[in-house]
Amino acid sequence: MDRPARLIVLGKQGSGKGTQCVRISQHFKVPHISTGDMLRAAVKSGTPLGEKVQRTMEAGELISDEIILEMIAARLREPDAATHGFVFDGFPRTVGQADRLDAALLPASIDVVVSLEIPTAVVVARIAQRRTCASCGRVYSLAVPPELDWICDTCHGEVVQREDDSEEAVTRRLALYDAQTAPLIARYRAAGKLAAIEATGTVEEVAGRVISCLEDHLGAARSDT
Ligand code: AMP
Repeated sequence: MDRPARLIVLGKQGSGKGTQCVRISQHFKVPHISTGDMLRAAVKSGTPLGEKVQRTMEAGELISDEIILEMIAARLREPDAATHGFVFDGFPRTVGQADRLDAALLPASIDVVVSLEIPTAVVVARIAQRRTCASCGRVYSLAVPPELDWICDTCHGEVVQREDDSEEAVTRRLALYDAQTAPLIARYRAAGKLAAIEATGTVEEVAGRVISCLEDHLGAARSDT
């Protein structure tokens, strides 16, 4: 990358957003900034922030914009984000967060927003199957478990169902996505930033679509400057 790439990936829970963000981060050499991962790390290490957000997260509700924006502002001050840019995973999630992000980035702006498009019925089935390492966050499923007895292949942590992957919490999270996050798709489409990608198929198939689409968009953005 010869200049920072500022990317957002939108997609409902279970759309493969986290996995595709890892691929984007590796391919374009940009830091992967996941607000969900940052919050889960805070809960796990029992920081004051973690204590404050744990219940809300477990219920599948959203954390306040103030807390999220403070966390993002601190992360954006780290040198890797200034040099390389970022791929945001799970942020922005509300119109208020998107407004504040636009203001924080000035005079720069977001380059491309990938929207992973997938039917709700498919993600509900995927999430019911999903199991996650409580230590390192690696994702498995009932169909593709770790080699040994729900012990993580990577770090030997315990592989469990996330609290917020319970049926009740997932229903709540999907409703919140439709109400609060889906409106961002129209916003970024109107700004000419949206890349809508069909997210059914294997991880490799989706990654192929995402990366070639981003290469096109980023190439075009670079030749505009
Ligand atoms: P995720 O891993 O992105 O699904 O996030 C897990 C949980 O963290 C969400 O259900 C929210 O409780 C919280 N969270 C993550 N990102 C945000 C955000 N941008 N705004 C509000 N809450 C968030």
